[in-house]
Amino acid sequence: MKVPFIDIKRFEDGFLDEWYAKVSSLSSSASFIGGNEVSQLEMSLCQFLDVENTVTCSNGTDALQIALRASGVEREDLVLIPDVTFWATFEAVINVGAKPICIDVDESSGGVDEEVFYEAAKKFKPKAAILAHLYGWGTPNLKKIRSFCEAENIILIEDGAQCFGVNYQNQAIYKDALISTTSFYPAKVLGAAGDGGAIFTNNEDLADKARKLSNHGRDEHYGHGYVGWNSRLDTLQAAFLNISMKYINNRIGSRRQTANKYKKFLANLNIQHITPHPDFEENGYANLCIIKDEGTKSKIQVGFQDLGIGFGNIYPGAMSDQKGAKADLASYCGTGKSKIFCKSVFNLPLFPYMNDEEINYILRSLEGLID
Ligand SMILES: *Cc1c(COP(=O)(O)O)cnc(C)c1O
Repeated sequence: MKVPFIDIKRFEDGFLDEWYAKVSSLSSSASFIGGNEVSQLEMSLCQFLDVENTVTCSNGTDALQIALRASGVEREDLVLIPDVTFWATFEAVINVGAKPICIDVDESSGGVDEEVFYEAAKKFKPKAAILAHLYGWGTPNLKKIRSFCEAENIILIEDGAQCFGVNYQNQAIYKDALISTTSFYPAKVLGAAGDGGAIFTNNEDLADKARKLSNHGRDEHYGHGYVGWNSRLDTLQAAFLNISMKYINNRIGSRRQTANKYKKFLANLNIQHITPHPDFEENGYANLCIIKDEGTKSKIQVGFQDLGIGFGNIYPGAMSDQKGAKADLASYCGTGKSKIFCKSVFNLPLFPYMNDEEINYILRSLEGLID
């Protein structure tokens, strides 16, 4: 038996037929940019996530860059970011001309270490900060971090590429963010048939500026109020996402079920398994195990390879340790916890519609590989 780390081909019955029919009708009318599919998607995302404005764009990295630019982050501005995140969080800051300061990880959640974050904010007085809500939940004490940033005049951007469908204190995590983003990369919780992304905000001015930036800074067709770029979500991607939205609750439900099975089983195994703080209802994006003993980790990974079971290391290196970070890193704040975290991280397969046979095979195999 083989179980991949992720399988995004398990479409619901009828899904592909509906998609092919859409491709056919949109193609024959040459409806490729904007239109109803895009506006319908933005409306249903506002409803699903309980936010006032959704601005779709080309990908999750652009979404971060648009959020930074829309909120006024400029050349030489300092921006706090997590030292454990996907590289795009780092890149976005550099690409708008600003300078990132990496904040150590909180090993119990995978989010930023709150105290280090507050200290860095007081010391550096950054223009903005980005939190990345990784693994399918959010950074603990989110309310407090949001109020702190508001009081200190720090623009808080929330990179929600991995938290689509996560609830925080019983409401969508994006709901009370000043400005947040997501990615529709195919392997994300809501994945497109290619690249896509979105910005969410309850602030009309931010939404208006984000929308203009993502479409050549346009005020009118040939009137340009800003220098933006082309970061539109195309119609076919929007159409695929609209069909996917019909099934999103099922997909998230299935992910949660698997996450819960893992959680129950792993509680009795001698392996450190990180689960969300009780304020969060997770979306089952990525299972998170921490295996500090290198020998044990390697034994499990080699064993999994032999048994045909996929696994992940999300992420194997901290941002401040990347070769590409050297020239632009303004500072690193912490005690090196992020390095240890990244070396120890191990993720079990997790995707919608995994069956019990697969889950049991993974867990029995894991049990057999641990002393
Ligand atoms: C996937 C991801 C991104 C980037 O999204 P793309 O659509 O691939 O550009 C940014 N941040 C995090 C945390 C992600 O997981």
